[in-house]
Amino acid sequence: MSDWLLVFLYALVTALATGLGAVPFFFVRDVSDRFVAYANAIAAGLMLGASFGLVSEGTTHGRLETLGGVLIGVAFILGTQRYLGGHDEEELVFGAAQGESARKVFLMMAVMTAHSFSEGVAVGVSFGGGVTLATVITVAIAVHNIPEGVAITAVMRPRGISVPKCAGWSVVSSLPQPLMAVPAFLFVEAFRPALPWGIGFAAGAMIFMVLGELLPEALAEGRRSQVATISTVTIIAMMLFQRFL
Ligand SMILES: [Zn+2]
Repeated sequence: MSDWLLVFLYALVTALATGLGAVPFFFVRDVSDRFVAYANAIAAGLMLGASFGLVSEGTTHGRLETLGGVLIGVAFILGTQRYLGGHDEEELVFGAAQGESARKVFLMMAVMTAHSFSEGVAVGVSFGGGVTLATVITVAIAVHNIPEGVAITAVMRPRGISVPKCAGWSVVSSLPQPLMAVPAFLFVEAFRPALPWGIGFAAGAMIFMVLGELLPEALAEGRRSQVATISTVTIIAMMLFQRFL
């Protein structure tokens, strides 16, 4: 199988995982906020553990370049958030649910696409560090996408949209991942000096998202001690997983 096709398939798995977020809605009318909070706490631990793996891989290719990439990743997320008016995802999702203007629905999709963009880049550049690193990053992002699918379905389902359609829209929200992963991979393959920059970018964007979005959302609905325990244990599990893979 050609390398780019493997990259595409890995990133397609992360996008499809978003659709799994709709599955609980076959059985229940609504998923509790607390359940979503703990799912986000797990995702936060996986993403942080995977980001540490990225940084340590990046530094073997260039320390300052990795740091430079981290700063660009943070600037990218800050820049897109500012450009889109500083709304956070949740605020926009609820805005859309309450039938507010098409502009808000558009903004919600724009925020999700920007967010998903950097995750696609992460899958792509991680292949520059080898299939093992790529597998770790793919697992982390795929698991993280599931509560995103839950959030999307929780908004769409009460408006009479069928569960399979909610799953479909959830997958659509993550389509930038397979679309971005392949060019990001081809770029760092063709231009090796860009690899630590790309790896740093992915790590910076992921860590920033965990600290700026996932953990605050988890802490808003879950117990602090439990969120902290789940995230801590998950980080360690993810780091051990990388050692033994
Ligand atoms: Zn995401």
